[in-house]
Amino acid sequence: MSVTQTTESILNYVDGGWKNAAVSEYLPVLNPATGEQIGSTPMSSASDVGEAVRAASKAYPAWRRIPVGQRIEYLFKLRTLMKENYEDLSRMITIECGKTLAESHGEMLRGIENVEVACGTPILIQGYNSEDIASGIDELMIRQPLGVCAIIAPFNFPAMIPFWFLPYAIACGNTVVIKPSERVPLTMQKIFKLIEALKLPAGVVNLVNGGRDVVNAILEHPDIRAVSFVGSSATARHVYTRSAATGKRVQCQGGAKNPVVILPDADFVTSSEIVADSAFGCAGQRCLAASVAIGVGEATKPFIEAIRQKAESRITGFGLEDGVQMGPVISAESRARVEGLIGKAINDGAKAVVDGRNAKISKYEKGTFVKPTVLEGLPLSSEVTRTEIFGPVLSVHHVNTIDDAISFVNSGEYGNMACLFTTSGANARKFRYEAEVGNVGINVGVAAPMAYFPFSGARGSFFGDLHGQGRDAVEFFTQEKVVVERWPKDWTRKF
Ligand code: NAD
Repeated sequence: MSVTQTTESILNYVDGGWKNAAVSEYLPVLNPATGEQIGSTPMSSASDVGEAVRAASKAYPAWRRIPVGQRIEYLFKLRTLMKENYEDLSRMITIECGKTLAESHGEMLRGIENVEVACGTPILIQGYNSEDIASGIDELMIRQPLGVCAIIAPFNFPAMIPFWFLPYAIACGNTVVIKPSERVPLTMQKIFKLIEALKLPAGVVNLVNGGRDVVNAILEHPDIRAVSFVGSSATARHVYTRSAATGKRVQCQGGAKNPVVILPDADFVTSSEIVADSAFGCAGQRCLAASVAIGVGEATKPFIEAIRQKAESRITGFGLEDGVQMGPVISAESRARVEGLIGKAINDGAKAVVDGRNAKISKYEKGTFVKPTVLEGLPLSSEVTRTEIFGPVLSVHHVNTIDDAISFVNSGEYGNMACLFTTSGANARKFRYEAEVGNVGINVGVAAPMAYFPFSGARGSFFGDLHGQGRDAVEFFTQEKVVVERWPKDWTRKF
């Protein structure tokens, strides 16, 4: 199979047309499996952001007046186009991001599902009312759009994550500026070709490529009303703080360090298979990846043996090839960081039950691969146990009781996801009740909410109030307005 890619020129999309960014700085985009350069991201400036915001501001007054039922007609068309281009988009995700084709298919499906859910905006946007709050006086709550909204995405889900926000934002009558990750801009180029084909009014959806300068220009721009961000916790904190300081509505999904707990009554064969998919799927570059496994009581030994086998047998390679179960990490820097943390863990006393460093994948010597790694014997308090690794690394630990495990779950910086493996309903309920995280899995290793549920997150994994997806997204992208009204012809009381 040929894996050669031509270098594509990457453009911004502003005011209904493709535009070169006004810059001379470009970031090379590499296929992380082959090391080939496949594009160059223009590192757009504040003036490119300004142009996009002007276009979005100009489009907003007319767009908000288009009835919601007509606005979602564009989403019906977009869904059809995404389905028709599903294979092509999935392959692009694999080529620029590294995940397997099956994982890219899953990503696309969730993106499409969000478009489908946003097609329900005519119902989701409805307010409520009360007649006769006083004699002859009625009160109602209506939802109105905000204006220009910005969406800032991370590298690990180039197609899906923007769709946690985009379809809801425009269905609610807002206009949008999207900034993809500078490391994976190509999937969004293809998606914008589909958006172009929708023939939306110019300026309703705009694309600005680049890095932190684009983000900072968004945060400082007075005409942007709301910011939706997904990325690392350090950047999420920055985006949250600056957005709040400049008076914007903001929702920021951050990083994670997700624990999974295995009770002695779990089925170790099935549980280890599910945990392996969670820890090593997407090469561990998933905010819902399991990265710490806690064996309770008798569970630890059989679980380690079962997960060792799953880690050793996982086939690593270029995600477009048949049979490959895990791709590379995103970059050489990322590989060095992941391998450095494995080395640090070993220096801190861990045993590498499976050591995935120095991976050599035949035909793909320039790829940035780290194979599945299982560590044992690290103290629960160690730095590596608590740092987000964002690679295919699982550390396994032992505690005596479910209460000890829940204390650990609730003790870290992050609160994105925690999972329990058990056959006891009582323990499952206790865990679900007490775990202080946004997403809980019971015998599920990647508790990824469907598009009609919020993608939750808590503590250091989420900053804000309303999440992406579903009803939360519609609430985020609308302003509640309360009206109290009395009509002279309907006086029921004389003054
Ligand atoms: P990142 O924070 O490096 O980048 C995210 C976005 O912020 C990018 O668009 C980037 O250009 C921009 N950015 C980066 N540094 C910046 C800075 N200093 N100032 C302003 N903008 C900046 O994240 P990433 O490496 O692309 O993505 C991986 C991270 O995202 C992981 O921590 C992962 O857990 C997290 N993530 C979280 C979720 C979730 O739902 N909680 C989902 C996916 C990914």
